[in-house]
Amino acid sequence: MESPTERSYAVRTYGCQMNEHDSERIAGLLEAEGMVPAASVDEADVIVLNTCCIRENADNKLYGALGHLKALKAGRPNVQVAVGGCLAQKDRDQIQQRASHVDVVFGTHNVHRAAELLAEARSHGPVMEILEETVREDAEAFPSVLPTQRDADHKAWVTIQIGCDNSCAFCIVPSVRGPEISRPFGEKVAEVESLAADGVTEVTLLGQNVNSYGRDLTLRLRSLDAGPADTFEAGEVWASDPTRRPRPLFADLLTAIGAVDGIRRVRFTSPHPKDLRPETIEAMAVTPEVCEHLHLPLQSGSDRILSAMHRGYTAERYLERLAAARAGIDDMAVTTDIIVGFPGETDDDFERTLEVVAEAGYDSAYCFVFSPRGGTEAASMHRDFVDHDVCVDRFERLQRVLKRSGTITHRARIGRIEEVVIEGPAKREADQVTGRTRQNKLVHVAAGEGLRAGAYARVQITDAATHYLRGDLVEVTAAPRHRRRIPVASA
Ligand code: SF4
Repeated sequence: MESPTERSYAVRTYGCQMNEHDSERIAGLLEAEGMVPAASVDEADVIVLNTCCIRENADNKLYGALGHLKALKAGRPNVQVAVGGCLAQKDRDQIQQRASHVDVVFGTHNVHRAAELLAEARSHGPVMEILEETVREDAEAFPSVLPTQRDADHKAWVTIQIGCDNSCAFCIVPSVRGPEISRPFGEKVAEVESLAADGVTEVTLLGQNVNSYGRDLTLRLRSLDAGPADTFEAGEVWASDPTRRPRPLFADLLTAIGAVDGIRRVRFTSPHPKDLRPETIEAMAVTPEVCEHLHLPLQSGSDRILSAMHRGYTAERYLERLAAARAGIDDMAVTTDIIVGFPGETDDDFERTLEVVAEAGYDSAYCFVFSPRGGTEAASMHRDFVDHDVCVDRFERLQRVLKRSGTITHRARIGRIEEVVIEGPAKREADQVTGRTRQNKLVHVAAGEGLRAGAYARVQITDAATHYLRGDLVEVTAAPRHRRRIPVASA
């Protein structure tokens, strides 16, 4: 039988940060089995496609990639192909019906089984395993406790919660990722401590609705007697509160993670506007490690459309919460998500969106033209679908407004000295490196001594475009903390 140590793998991700983080875990699992990264998909022995059904044309992209892999497998029959993630969770056995060369299909609740399922398929033939839900007690089902193969050494994602209790009409997440489950407070702090010990200085807390983190934990604990496990489950602040009032713990978690020795930057994505509580804003304001960046998805500026989307806030409420955050946090960048052409969106609704966008003065935004996702409420609103040309026109108008506000916010930074963490060589300019400011803005700086990935530097901003800044190095303030990987040549 072939030794696993001879095998190489490639993981391809089609999706959001949650999916990218799952992919890191899948790579970690495969490496724990002795596999090594392949130079390319075409050279890999094991190919995992980690899918997402939120993004547009997810099906087309997946089946396009599988078509290519069919030809590859015809020439190299020992190659194994696995499909996991949201689309696999949703489409299940349809994947192997449409693409019989797929060896393994797994869903969102059993990422931790990827390597075992591949081994099973090698011995017994094609496998499909989709679980209906994540078992809270099954800690391994959580991506964050699996071995990881991270893309960057100085920063890491930390999943604090999976699933979502909301029911936005356009979103498939609740049906493919299940209800919200928060990981224990103490486990997340310990995970960040371990990352910091490994040299990580920046963490991004991930969840579908991060600011409701912990509500489920405290709801469960309130019916139990107080005990020593409370601090691990819900943190010291909640455990020492005699009222045992159920509440979200996100603000407490931000403070605790900011206090971990070695962590210099804490980011999070995404908060839901309806749950952006004053405690979270306060925790952001008083915890210096929490970066001054808020990604607050708007989706639409029309109250009528927000209601049809089941978003749980009005445009006025959204702007009030944004104003409160801006009042509490100095120099905060704000980004958002907007859907153009949700079913039934009229010209008047769209005008409301433009008004809110202009008032919010976003630094940037991810904008999407509505496209129906099978299995969502919005997908059944056929009669109200907005004409494609109208959507394209609205999208372009929105882009123009956003470009204006993005350029204004960027130009306002010229002349400032910003703290930048270096990410690596610039993609298109060999003599430049890129880094990120605390506001998550991309900065290009001339490459130079000490500007290695993970180093911190002070940079004076000299120029600004819509999507990036340019600057001159003032000084390197900290070397990378992670150990440098030195390739070892075999004898
Ligand atoms: S809050 Fe809405 S958009 Fe976000 S994951 Fe939950 S259902 Fe989807």
